[in-house]
Amino acid sequence: MGLLSNRVDRRMLKPGDHLYCHRNLHSYSHHGIYVEENRVIHFTRTEEKSSGQSSRRCEICGYQRSEQRGVVKSCIDCFAEGHKLYRFEYNVSAAHFCAKRSGTCSTRSSGAPDVIVERATRMLAEGRGGFGDYDLFENNCESFAVYCATGEAASGQALSLKSKVKIVQENLTGKPLSLENIASTFVEAAFAYKIDAIQQNNNLISSSSEKDQDDKKNDQVN
Ligand SMILES: [Zn+2]
Repeated sequence: MGLLSNRVDRRMLKPGDHLYCHRNLHSYSHHGIYVEENRVIHFTRTEEKSSGQSSRRCEICGYQRSEQRGVVKSCIDCFAEGHKLYRFEYNVSAAHFCAKRSGTCSTRSSGAPDVIVERATRMLAEGRGGFGDYDLFENNCESFAVYCATGEAASGQALSLKSKVKIVQENLTGKPLSLENIASTFVEAAFAYKIDAIQQNNNLISSSSEKDQDDKKNDQVN
């Protein structure tokens, strides 16, 4: 895994991996935990759909998007919906975190793979309310996967700018105050801010166009 891409081949997946895929031309991403061969546990929207149309049940995993809400288990194809798979990185350096796109990595450490799988499985067993109500900014698919991996919930998509600023601050105060450190920290901060501003804009466009699609087509869900 390099700095540019977290792309992962599905043959290389291991239980406990936090996976994500970009949807709607990279405007938002869907996250989940790989738990066993060809199965991912992920958090989907909990609200009811307005349309009465029903989506097709998957012949491989039995997952039916229009019927199953909240924490669900599906095959990789139902999770990725034809998009490329990426592996979320943990325990990355502050500089790496600041340089990467939001929602792709964290400076936090992840737990042991069996602990991650156990957390995801427990919330699946708790049923639809296992992770509470879905909220785009506060309680979404990414916060679910981060919670499973670290034991602490937070959405990088929503909170990344805040945490990047905090890390930049720590960089400034934690290191000897040289002109070089200050300059590199501000370059990182400016870069992170630009990426976040672009993504936040995309998310807003995406959530409004998603709503339009939802009205037309019942199975267009997160
Ligand atoms: Zn499936």
